[in-house]
Amino acid sequence: MKHILHLFKAAATALLFVSASLGQTTSIVIRNASIIDGTGKAAFRGDLRIKNGRIDKIGKIKPNKTEEVIDATGLVLAPGFIDIHNHSESGLLREGAAASQVSQGITTILVGPDGGSPWPIADYLRRLEGKVAPNVGAFIGHAELRTQVMKQDTKRTATPEEIAAMAKLVEQAMQEGAFGLSSGLEYDTGYMASIEEMVELAKAAARYKGIYMSHIRDEEEGFRTAMEEAIRIGRDANLPVQISHIKMGNRNVWGKSAEAIQLVEAARKAGQDVTADAYPYTAWASTITVLVPSRRHDDRAEVEKGLNNVGGADKVLITSHAANRSYEMRNMAQISAEKGISPVDLYIEIVKAGGAGVVCNSMNEEDVKAFYTRPWVMVSSDGGIGSRHPRGTGTFTRVLGRFVRENKWLSLEAAVKKMSAMPAARLGLKDRGLIKKGMRADLVLFDANSVIDRATFAEPQNFSVGIRSVFVNGMRVWDGDKVTGAMPGELLKHN
Ligand SMILES: [Zn+2]
Repeated sequence: MKHILHLFKAAATALLFVSASLGQTTSIVIRNASIIDGTGKAAFRGDLRIKNGRIDKIGKIKPNKTEEVIDATGLVLAPGFIDIHNHSESGLLREGAAASQVSQGITTILVGPDGGSPWPIADYLRRLEGKVAPNVGAFIGHAELRTQVMKQDTKRTATPEEIAAMAKLVEQAMQEGAFGLSSGLEYDTGYMASIEEMVELAKAAARYKGIYMSHIRDEEEGFRTAMEEAIRIGRDANLPVQISHIKMGNRNVWGKSAEAIQLVEAARKAGQDVTADAYPYTAWASTITVLVPSRRHDDRAEVEKGLNNVGGADKVLITSHAANRSYEMRNMAQISAEKGISPVDLYIEIVKAGGAGVVCNSMNEEDVKAFYTRPWVMVSSDGGIGSRHPRGTGTFTRVLGRFVRENKWLSLEAAVKKMSAMPAARLGLKDRGLIKKGMRADLVLFDANSVIDRATFAEPQNFSVGIRSVFVNGMRVWDGDKVTGAMPGELLKHN
C-alpha cells in the first residue's frame, strides 16, 4: 500500500510538472471579456491571447485547435493587482501559493514596508525562487538597518558613523534589487531617528533611483508635521515619496483629511513626486503601544486619554497577546469588564506583560472616501498571509465590491488603475500593471457584479468571492475556488 502510494505521489508530481511546463509554453485565449486595461480608460469588449508568459494579442482572436479557450462572457479582465505594502515576508516562506493573496487578485507583492524588512534582501529573494505563486519584490526597512548597525540600542539618535554604516547597507540592498527605503517612524525602533538620518539614508536609495516609502511618525494629532517631514525627506534627498496607508488615525483628527490632501497636493503642484496608498477599512492594526504616543505607558492619565482618543476601550480588539491567549479576538471593554478592572489597568497589565497586537476601529469613513477618491492614492493592503486584520485577505475585493459597486465612490476603471498601473508606475515596473501587447501576462478575471470580500474582524481569513481566475506570468495560480499549485512568481529586482 505504501509502495503504491509512493508511485501515485510520483505520478502526481510528474503530472503537475508537465502541466506546469505546458502552462508556460502553450497559449490560452480568453474570449469576450470586458477588458479594463489599467490606464483608466473605459472598458472594451475583446479577446486576449496569452503566449509564453506574455500578452500576445488583444482584439478579435480566432483560437487554433491546440489552444485552451476561456469564455469570459460577462466577466472583467484586468491587469493583476500589485500590492505595494504587504507584510508577507515570513508568510511567503511558509506558504508560497499565497491563497489569501491570489484569491483577491494580487499577482505581485512588495514586502518590507513600515521599516521592517528581510535582510539581506538577496538571500531572502533567493529562498523564494521557484516557490511562490505571485511575483515578489522587496523594500529595505529602516528599522532593520538600525537593528543591524545599532543592535538593541535603538532608542536614541544615531551617530554620524552609524548613519554612514546604515547608508552602506542601503546601497547593498539597492544593488540586490530593493525598490527603495521604507520607514516606520511611529514605531519604537525608528522613532528616535532624526530627519537628517532619514535624508542621508534616502539619498543612498536615490542614487539607485529608489523611492522613500513611509509609515509617517504620527497619523493622529501630529499628522501635519509628520507629513511635512516625509515630504521634506523626499525633497532634500531628491527621490519620490510614498506615504503609506494614509489616514486620519483617531477621533481628534476626523474630518481633517482635507488638510492632509492639501499638503500633498501643494507639494505635487510645486513639482515634487508624492503619492500615497490606503487600505479600505476604518480600523487600523498595530501594536497596542501606539495608543499612547507619549510612550508613558504606566501614566494613568495618558492611557486614559489614549483610549478616549480612539473612542473607548470597546474600539480596541486584542488580536494577539502571547502572555494570555484568552484575551485574543476580544475587545478591551469586554476583557476588563470580565476581570472587574478598568480598561486603563488592563492596558498597563498588557504592556507590562509584553504588549499585544490590536485592531482599532477609530477612523471615519468620510476620510477614507476622501483619500480613495484622490487620483494620487492607490490601493494597498498593509496585510499579508496570516494577517489578523481582514485587510490581509479582503482588501482588493472590498474596494471592487463595496467602494465601486455598492458605494459608487469611484468607477471600476479608476479602481483597477489604483490596483495595477499606479503601483507599477510607482515601482518602475515597465512590463506589468497594464493590459497591453508584450506585457507580462499577470491577469485577473472577475465578476464585477458579485466580487466582494468575505473576511471579517471575527473571521479575517475568509476568502473573497467573485475572482474567477488569476494568472501570473501566463500561468493560472487561482481557479476560482482554490490555488492551482503552480509557482510561476518571479523575484523582482528594481533597476
Ligand atoms: Zn504601517
